[in-house]
Amino acid sequence: MATVTSYGAAQTVTGSCHLVKIGPIQILIDCGMFQGDGGSENNYKPFEFDPAEIDFLIITHAHLDHIGRVPKLIKDGFKGKIISTQPTHDIANIMLLDSARILKEEYKTLRRKARRRGDEERISEPLYTEDHVKEVFAKKWQILEYFQKHKLPKHIHVTLGNAGHIMGSAFVMIDYTEEKTTKRVVFSGDIGSPHRLIIDTLDKIEEADTLFIESTYGDRNHRSLKESVNEFKQTIITTLERNGNVLIPSFALERTQEILWLLNKMFEDNELPKCRVFLDSPLAIKATRLYNKYPVHLNDELEYDISNDNDPFSFPSLESTSTKEESMLINKVKERAIIIAGSGMCTGGRIMHHLKHRLWNKLNTVIFVGFQVGGTLGRRIIDGDEYVKIYGEDIVVKAQVETINGFSAHADQNDMIEWISNFKNLKNLYLIHGEAEKMEIFSEAIKNKLNYDATIMQNGVSIEL
Ligand SMILES: [Zn+2]
Repeated sequence: MATVTSYGAAQTVTGSCHLVKIGPIQILIDCGMFQGDGGSENNYKPFEFDPAEIDFLIITHAHLDHIGRVPKLIKDGFKGKIISTQPTHDIANIMLLDSARILKEEYKTLRRKARRRGDEERISEPLYTEDHVKEVFAKKWQILEYFQKHKLPKHIHVTLGNAGHIMGSAFVMIDYTEEKTTKRVVFSGDIGSPHRLIIDTLDKIEEADTLFIESTYGDRNHRSLKESVNEFKQTIITTLERNGNVLIPSFALERTQEILWLLNKMFEDNELPKCRVFLDSPLAIKATRLYNKYPVHLNDELEYDISNDNDPFSFPSLESTSTKEESMLINKVKERAIIIAGSGMCTGGRIMHHLKHRLWNKLNTVIFVGFQVGGTLGRRIIDGDEYVKIYGEDIVVKAQVETINGFSAHADQNDMIEWISNFKNLKNLYLIHGEAEKMEIFSEAIKNKLNYDATIMQNGVSIEL
């Protein structure tokens, strides 16, 4: 008998964690962190299964909502093998070390607050430390190429396909035998739109009996990428030509590399006005190095550039600032600077001091290139708050604020329906990784366009394959 149980990313977009049991073999697909509205306090709860009984952990990609609890899994007894692509392994390493650093900071703050409230005992220790992350990478990983069929015990095979979401991202195909027939269950992971700037796009497959598909943007379609690129370029040019500065709060992974590549293109095409560009994020600097390391995972144009010793993410006006001192020095640059810094939703990180120094000046522009969750500083700026509080100081928002939506790393409704339509004999379809209302809309669209009945997965409820 084969079953699947979701212990995260069921009617929410974070905490991805799905347990597949095929006979005596237990396979976990992702072990992500709960974030924002998904309830980050859930990260500290014990797993609802025994980590010591898991034989294999397959990681779809290195976003924290898919890998963020892996060090906790090992801390809590997981002794099995981890399977992923090579870029996912390498990116996960820098992402989890950064996560351990942030958890340590958060722990210190929580502890300080708890001490003032008089209930210090409740806050016992950080979720995990750098040492736990090191243990994750001291383990033997099984690295797979796309479409390399890998044999597990009990006649089970695992194959990864390119999900086109971020570098190294994969969907997972698990083939197993039941009553002498071979069956296949597929987990989409997060899938990318077929229109991406720098990576190879999503692979299509035809065979699956059961599909678990993400539904992040199951309720809508994105604006065209071409329009977004033009909007981005125009905003940069206009701001620099009036001697203003551009702030780009950016996620370290993928989005930053897309921005760098676009700026590089502008430079090569003589479209970039005279300026200094600062990549002010140690994590993004490390991530960009990894993008250069695996050209085979990038699209043909970038692969060609890298194999001919042209770094597609670098150009003469770019300065990478690793240290805090270098970051503070950027404040002395009065005009014509483009500053790319994290965090992407302005919830912390170096972008905070740049916003404090430049948000009040109407010559400047803040370009948001990613989704801003409710409750974040990024969202308040987009929503048009006249004043925002940064480091305890009221800052007036006079800078121009632009939101560019077409860079999404996720497929939209049309893209996902198109991907599902490739499957020839699909018997069961389950929706995961989405907010409940959006999943309802997605499920209806699937029924209308493909005539499949899709089931929305419930947290902790097992289904039989
Ligand atoms: Zn993702």
